[in-house]
Formats: sequence, C-alpha cells, structure tokens
Amino acid sequence: MPDGQLRIAMLSAHSCPLGTLGAKDTGGMSVFIVELARQLGEKGHLVDVYTRVHDPQDRQSYELGQNARLIHLRAGEDEQVHKLAVYSYLPDFACNLENYRKSNDLNYDLVYSHYWLSGWVGEYAKQWWGVPHIITFHTLGAVKNSLGIGEDEPELRIATERDLTGSCHHIIASTEQEKEELIRHYGASPEKMSVVPCGVNLELFQPVNKEMAKRELGFQDSKIILFVGRIEPLKGIEQLLRAVPYLKNHEGLRLVIIGGDERTRHEIEELQKLATELHIEDSVTFLGLIKQERLPYFYSAADVCVIPSYYESFGLVALESLACGTPVVATDVGDFRNIIHQGETGYVIVSNEPVALAEKIDLLLSRSNPDIEFARSIRNSVSSYSWSNVAEAIVREFRPVLANYCLSVI
Ligand code: UDP
Repeated sequence: MPDGQLRIAMLSAHSCPLGTLGAKDTGGMSVFIVELARQLGEKGHLVDVYTRVHDPQDRQSYELGQNARLIHLRAGEDEQVHKLAVYSYLPDFACNLENYRKSNDLNYDLVYSHYWLSGWVGEYAKQWWGVPHIITFHTLGAVKNSLGIGEDEPELRIATERDLTGSCHHIIASTEQEKEELIRHYGASPEKMSVVPCGVNLELFQPVNKEMAKRELGFQDSKIILFVGRIEPLKGIEQLLRAVPYLKNHEGLRLVIIGGDERTRHEIEELQKLATELHIEDSVTFLGLIKQERLPYFYSAADVCVIPSYYESFGLVALESLACGTPVVATDVGDFRNIIHQGETGYVIVSNEPVALAEKIDLLLSRSNPDIEFARSIRNSVSSYSWSNVAEAIVREFRPVLANYCLSVI
C-alpha cells in the first residue's frame, strides 16, 4: 500500500447517495458522501461506499471516480421503505457487508458512518475488522424533537445516537453548533469531536449571466426568489410563502420552489393551498425535482435565494447559491452565520418570521442592477469551500484517530 494511503469503508445504509436529489430522503447527505468519496479517491485513498439496494435494477457496484466505488448490498425488500423500517434490515446489511468484504478479500483502515442507522452497522464493522469507527451524524434526532416541528423522531433513534456518541472513536460534526448539540443532548466528549464544514462543487456551481439564465428558463422580466431543497416542514417553506404578500411593491415577482417528488406530493399540495389562501398562487411556481447539473441556471437566474429553515445540519444550498453569485437570506441555523457575510453576500436573520424574511428579501430585490462584479465577489466569498479542501481536512482528522487506535491495541 503506498505511503499514507487509507483504505476507507463509508457506510450509507438508509439511502443510496446516488438517489435523486431533493426527494424525501436524499439531499445534502448524499451530496456530501459522493463528493467526499470522489475527492478522497482523487487524493489516492481507496474508498468503498456501502449502501442498500433499493431498486432491483441496481448494479452491485458503480465507479464514483478514481479509486472510489459505490457498492449495493442486499438488505430487506428492494423497494423504497420508510427510513425507520430500514432499522430492522440493519443486521442483514451488516452480515452482507462482511460477506462482501471477505469474498472480495478487502481490508479497511477505518469505517466512516453517515447518519445514525449506518452508525449502528459501523459499530459491528469496527469490532469485526479491528479498526476505528468515525461518524458524521448529519442530523440529530434530539435536536429535531426539541423544535417540535414535523414528525417526532422515535426514542430508538435518540437512544442509538446517544450510545454511538459514547462508543464510536471519533465524531466529525459539520458545524460548531452541531458539536455543542452533541454535548448538550447526548453528553458527547469534546475531545473526540472535530468540526469540518461541508463544501461545494465549484466547477459545477458557477455564475451564468443573470439575464441569459432568466431567458433560458422563461423567467425574463421577473424578479426571482428561489427556494431549493427537500419539501418538509423543517424547511419552513410556508413562512416564505407568507412573506411574499409583503413584497407586493416588486413588479413581476416570482417565487420558484425547487424540490419534492411523488412521496412529498401531500406537502406540496398543502403549500399550493396556502399560496391560494394568500392570493399569491399566480406568483409561485413549483418545479419539483431539478437535476443538480441544471441548478446553476436557477441559482444564477434568481435575484435572491431564501432558506427559511427551522433546522439545517449545514445547508449546502447556501454554498451553491453563493458559488453562483446569488445572495442568500437564511435563518440562523446550520453554518449560515459563517457562510453568509451579513449585508455583503446576504443576510442571516434570527427567525423565519415572514416580516423579517420580507424585509431582507426586499433589500436584495431593491438593489439597482446587480452587476457581474457583485456576482463575482459573492462567489469569491466561498472559494475556499471546495470538496477537495473538505477531503484534506477530513483526512487530517482521521490520522490522529488511527494513530491513537493503533497505540490502544498494542
Ligand atoms: N437538490 C437537487 N435538486 C433538487 C433539490 C435539491 O439537486 O431538486 C440538492 C441541492 O443541490 C443540495 C441538496 O439537494 O445539494 C440539499 O442539500 P442541503 O444541505 O441544502 O439540505 P438537506 O437535504 O441536507 O436538508
């Protein structure tokens, strides 16, 4: 094995990172796993991402990039199941992981789990393989429950997350806030945690001329407010809809909502109903899922991107919009306080109250002719957030964990 090269098993048991983005359970975490695996592979590490088969058409193995593969393992039924139901398939997943590893003569230096369900499997892998187990939780059940919005997370998740914070070797959080939440809710030890912010694909997300992008999308002569993300109560979309009537002074205003699939049809219908009640239905367009490759056009066409969330583990959409040169208005969650430069590249507001959202959106919509210089300076503000930098930072966190692990087993 070349010097310094790591053999990494990444686990994504509950959802396939190659699944359609913006659907019910596939968003930022999937992007994180795929982009990170590719960058680690490019840096010469060997990465296998293990996930659950969810479609009978799935091939067993896919190349994600140089040195990086995605491997589907059979566990339970093939079709989409509710995230929680995956829990009962985890023993199957763990056994199939071990069978695959043995029959392909694979060895790993560490196991890196994503989300609590994978963490459960990672604990077995760490014992069977004699390697350290590192976790990124992405979201925390206890924090979601403390907000009281949307479905309650079950005690099973809370208990598993608490156990994992105690038993794993290291936790990589995406924000300082997540680190504090892990300490507050689960008593996690600060010594075994580090914070590595997420990244953005700076090659894909680039500014396109605003007028050209608007024309391309059929939004010429409109001022565009953009929302991109999974459609779920924690995203606070209804608060954004309630902000629109306060912006009547802007002619040709259009709120474009991207995200959501068949499984979130009910939520979309509820939002459409609310738009009608607010008499703004003619100014709101629901576009459903849009492939990431097309999103730079939407971010570039937008005059402002809004993230009115009650909770975010990080908030990739903000980085993507800024990388395309479009300012962001967001609530003070995730990493927005660090990503958005107040008054320069957008605004971070205390809560998603409609009046507060409208006030900041209005400021950005009222800018006379935002020029290419403005877009460029916004993009420059996130130029250090490449996935390549994230991969390097994560390997820097892996190394001492591995060294301590080796010392502990001598
Ligand atoms: N996304 C997409 N198409 C859509 C909706 C969302 O590609 O129709 C992607 C978006 O580009 C982003 C991710 O889904 O990379 C959402 O990540 P974020 O961290 O903002 O939210 P999360 O899903 O983690 O709550």
